[in-house]
Amino acid sequence: MVQVSVSMARPLDDMTLEDVARILGRSFAVEGVVNGPDGMTATVRDDVSYDHLRQAVVKVLRVARHLTEECVFSHEPTDWQGSDAQLALEAAGDVQRLGPGLFAFGGSFLTVRGALDTLLLGIAARHGAKELAYPPLWPIPVLRDINYFHDFPQLAMVAAGVETDFTSRSRFSEAHRRGSGSTAIACTAENGLAPAVNALAPTVCDCCYWLLRDRRDVADQVFTIHGHVFRNEASDEGSLDRLSAFTMREIVTVGTEAFVLARRQVLLEDMKQLAQLLGLRCTIEAADDPFFCNDALQKNLLQTAAQLKYELRVVLFGNREIAVGSLNLHNDYFSKSYDYTTRDGARPFSGCFAIGCERLTYALFCRYGLDLEQWPQPVRSVLRLG
Ligand SMILES: [Zn+2]
Repeated sequence: MVQVSVSMARPLDDMTLEDVARILGRSFAVEGVVNGPDGMTATVRDDVSYDHLRQAVVKVLRVARHLTEECVFSHEPTDWQGSDAQLALEAAGDVQRLGPGLFAFGGSFLTVRGALDTLLLGIAARHGAKELAYPPLWPIPVLRDINYFHDFPQLAMVAAGVETDFTSRSRFSEAHRRGSGSTAIACTAENGLAPAVNALAPTVCDCCYWLLRDRRDVADQVFTIHGHVFRNEASDEGSLDRLSAFTMREIVTVGTEAFVLARRQVLLEDMKQLAQLLGLRCTIEAADDPFFCNDALQKNLLQTAAQLKYELRVVLFGNREIAVGSLNLHNDYFSKSYDYTTRDGARPFSGCFAIGCERLTYALFCRYGLDLEQWPQPVRSVLRLG
């Protein structure tokens, strides 16, 4: 157990304490983060040096305090009400559990998810976006070259195939026949499995930049993609707000710094308008990515300070709030990682506008209930539900 106290001019509010605990929790086993007589005190169960922990806590504090301050938009409908729609959706058979973090969708859930995607495609069309589609399996270098496995090991999922020789196939075939009772397969050579050469897509935009690799003539452009994404995380309560597999619609911009920054401003306005049209109780605020490693605390700090990421956060019911979308600015990270340039040798910038389709759909059902006929007419009209 190691404890660090940092003196403060005034005690931290609960939200900031929670932020500090959450961000520290990515790298340490946090026992507690509290206001104490010596200032803010963080306790972790790891075997780390006092100096190392103190350094980390000071960095996290700067990030967390920034986080709670940076809200660029807030929408509070006067008639707002919300309640958890998940049980009703399951009772109606529109949402069915397959396993932890995995759900099948049908009925009205699919109707709304499809309607939202049409709405988002309309925004993409106004930006002149070219539509692309990818498989959900990506070659390992796509993610290795942007350091994804290093920065987000807690989210990574790789897919292994069975070896091509007869012995491995026989071993695999025998071990997992019906009635064997196996529900998990260890990805080892003894089990006949080959090293994974593909990973499950963790987002939909990285492939856009990968396709530009080694090019020397990259011009200003906008793409849009809808695809399945996978994260090695699931809600403990089996809730719809944290899925291991879900779909995302992204609008991606690539080009000169001026082009990407100008589009980002328009996309931020698009995000505000979307939230207003759908009548969501929400905020758009600066956020950081859940980097894992200790050295990545620095990335959190830089990312937040530079406002590289904004999240659209929606209140579902009570004080339950989730991020349903984000607006990301990558600067020249992808063009450096994948080595592509404009015709005059500059490193292109990139950015993306991303919506988690199931989360936004779920948020709408929590807001308006299961009966689509009863949804307010303006919302029905914008979703073209009639
Ligand atoms: Zn993206």
